[in-house]
Amino acid sequence: METLVFWLLTVVFAVVFFAQIAARLRLIRQAPPTFSLDDVPSRVRRFLIDVIGQRKTVQERPLVGLAHAFVFWGFVAFGVFTVVEFLHGLGIVDLTGSGWFHLYRVVLTPFAVAVLGGILLLLVRRIAFRPVALGGTVSAESVVIALFIATLMTTFLLSWRLEEASTTGRLNWWLHMTVILVFLALIPASKHLHLVLSPVTVFLKSPELGRVPNLDFEKEQVGLETVKDLGSKSVLDAFTCVECGRCQVNCPAWGAGKALNPKTIVLQTQEALLAGQRDRKLGALYSEEVLWQCTTCGACENQCPVGIEHLPILIGARRGLVSNGDAPEYLGGLYNQLERRSNIWGLGYDQRQKFIESAGLEVFDRTRHDLLVWLGCAGAFEADFQKSLRALFEILRARDVRFGVLAKERCNGDPAKRTGNEYMFQELARANIEELKAAGPAKIVTSCPHCVKTIGSDYGRFGYQVEVVHSSVFVEELTRGVRAGRPASGAVTYHDPCYLGRYAATVDEPRALLTRFGATISEPERNRENPYCCGAGGGLLFADKEEEPGSRISDVRFRQLQATGADTVVTACPFCSIMLKGASASAGDSRVQFVDLMTFVRERL
Ligand code: SF4
Ligand code: SF4
Repeated sequence: METLVFWLLTVVFAVVFFAQIAARLRLIRQAPPTFSLDDVPSRVRRFLIDVIGQRKTVQERPLVGLAHAFVFWGFVAFGVFTVVEFLHGLGIVDLTGSGWFHLYRVVLTPFAVAVLGGILLLLVRRIAFRPVALGGTVSAESVVIALFIATLMTTFLLSWRLEEASTTGRLNWWLHMTVILVFLALIPASKHLHLVLSPVTVFLKSPELGRVPNLDFEKEQVGLETVKDLGSKSVLDAFTCVECGRCQVNCPAWGAGKALNPKTIVLQTQEALLAGQRDRKLGALYSEEVLWQCTTCGACENQCPVGIEHLPILIGARRGLVSNGDAPEYLGGLYNQLERRSNIWGLGYDQRQKFIESAGLEVFDRTRHDLLVWLGCAGAFEADFQKSLRALFEILRARDVRFGVLAKERCNGDPAKRTGNEYMFQELARANIEELKAAGPAKIVTSCPHCVKTIGSDYGRFGYQVEVVHSSVFVEELTRGVRAGRPASGAVTYHDPCYLGRYAATVDEPRALLTRFGATISEPERNRENPYCCGAGGGLLFADKEEEPGSRISDVRFRQLQATGADTVVTACPFCSIMLKGASASAGDSRVQFVDLMTFVRERL
């Protein structure tokens, strides 16, 4: 009789589970395919570190993360136990009396204690110390699931003390198995679906941060306009979100009080998909205002523990808006400049030529030069950043590096790509690739982190591969063993640019240079691979600062740098430098001096 009842319950709950899973799988299958499986070794490595090792979960919130990791490891460890108990309960085969199963239960016991401790800690935190990332109200669903997990562990531990055939032993067994069945039915409609989906989502996440595939204009792709245009990976992502809010609290736009919240973007996607709103415009679903607030800093994707990629949605939706002529006015001006003059400032190329001549630069010739220095729009035209490039040239000359520059260089296309003007990006990229292929450098050095990302990584999707390194990396290697001629005075703080610290994971080299040349670094909050953005990325350098809702991102960052008490802020990106100097001026702080990393090194070499 018990077996029959257990069969009945198992079938009912399994049907409920699979029906809900099938509905979600159907939505994933209907979406345009965007799954990719390139670079399998990196994906396997990340799977092992982030899924099995639970790195991202533990890294940002060590205590809570560890509690969650125990629950996850326990979930995995109990897998075979649960299967054996089901086979036994359904009367298929009884392995519970075997020696190995007894040993396995012994091994599971410390896991059960750790899971019980972990889940109770998470429950108390959720109810009593509810952090802002988890939203305003306690979710009943989370409490129920936590109590279920606690019950599963308690009944397992009690099974050691209870005779299996006794009434209390049977009641304990039934409680354990019923909780599993109800849990199973609740999973798909809850954030706990991440238990099933996150290993897949993490594996399918692009090995490269912020990858947004090129549009194929021959297939008349125009970007994402409605919910049904969202790619299969974005749909999978929407069902995987565990609502932890790591993306939210790390987002500089949200941190500066703007409407953009990357967690909301994912949850709105999920809601629209489940409600069958396939034709809903993305501009209306997320709001156009929100879509233009993203700096593309990559913090959301980078901090997400379950492999969700926000940028393909945000930039994809921007592409949809741009193709319909719905870009904000300031971008119209930028696109005009890029179209007419191929640089972000809209300046004539005679100015670049003047700089080349005054700095005594040679045109790159692969038979005479080891290195091509890419100037970028800032290096070619912006007076302040040109000082930094002159410092780089002096360092290279002092160390006998033979280098040259391209006779003709256009904007790498980053502002067009990140704001969704894919057509313009591809035009600029193809023209630059042609010049680069003709010149044939084996290695490119640039002081602009956006050029590192775009030329070194985005150009790869046009089949052009070249090693691109930031000047901090090249100069760090070049000056090993060199001693400082003049040590730095006063404390120094270093602002990691998002496209260098986060995208390129270049965090040690700038610090090595600073300490080698006499600086004592005072670290700001949000540093290294998780810096707080300066607010320039994603085309926002060109936005009207007076119109910005909430605080300015650059002001928030400047206050964080100010709080270090350092007199000198060292930057390593032309755009961070512009934004932070602007913030310093509007704060009326003349105490803090800004120095680009190359200038800092040159002055002390
Ligand atoms: S990329 Fe940066 S600014 Fe954009 S949503 Fe993510 S965290 Fe926020
Ligand atoms: S998108 Fe990722 S980081 Fe953001 S709430 Fe969901 S699971 Fe957490």
